[in-house]
Amino acid sequence: MKKSSRSSIKRSKGRLTVIAGPMFSGKTGKLVAMVDVFTRMGHRVLIVKPKLDDRYGGGEAIHSHDHRSSRAIIVDGESAEQIVGKVLDSGVDKVILDEVQFFDREKIKKVVQVLKKKGYHVIAAGLLYDYKRQPFGATPDLLGLADEQLELFAVCQKCGSLAMHTERVGGGSAKQIEVGAADKYIAVCEKCHKVYK
Ligand code: ADP
Ligand code: MG
Repeated sequence: MKKSSRSSIKRSKGRLTVIAGPMFSGKTGKLVAMVDVFTRMGHRVLIVKPKLDDRYGGGEAIHSHDHRSSRAIIVDGESAEQIVGKVLDSGVDKVILDEVQFFDREKIKKVVQVLKKKGYHVIAAGLLYDYKRQPFGATPDLLGLADEQLELFAVCQKCGSLAMHTERVGGGSAKQIEVGAADKYIAVCEKCHKVYK
């Protein structure tokens, strides 16, 4: 993109908003709604998602569990500099990163810090904890760097309380990352959460 078109966008002061919560807490749905409002306000928004998230048919879009979607670009092994380059070339002023726990931890932290310094509003959404309640990828780090934090909760599928954890139903492999939706995971509260062997 030419320099003139980059200079006409609305960037002012860089900012990081982090949206964290378990699966089914409405993170992606919130992002889709934010894109709609930001666009109507005249902002230009780029959604970036990791290739690993291939649920609901994958493709160049983010998809919520209740089937709302928004166009996205897919990142798969690019360097931090290349990701920043894609953002610069897109002419946006707001950058959304969904499923941020799936990106390489150090790489995505660097991307966020560079973009913030350049004046972008970055909105990162992701799981704070994995199914064992261990910190998941860069989400906890980004929460520490955030200017704004939004913590979302789901409904515990065992007792109906507020759910802040994700349970891997029936175990599966011991790997931290095993991509899935309601076929593999449920949202649960602190008391009901279990880790299966
Ligand atoms: P996230 O990106 O945080 O996984 P989504 O925005 O994709 O969440 O999906 C949220 C939607 O998931 C809700 O609006 C609701 O329709 C559905 N849902 C399914 N299970 C639950 C649950 N246990 N608690 C809350 N919402 C749930
Ligand atoms: Mg999601």
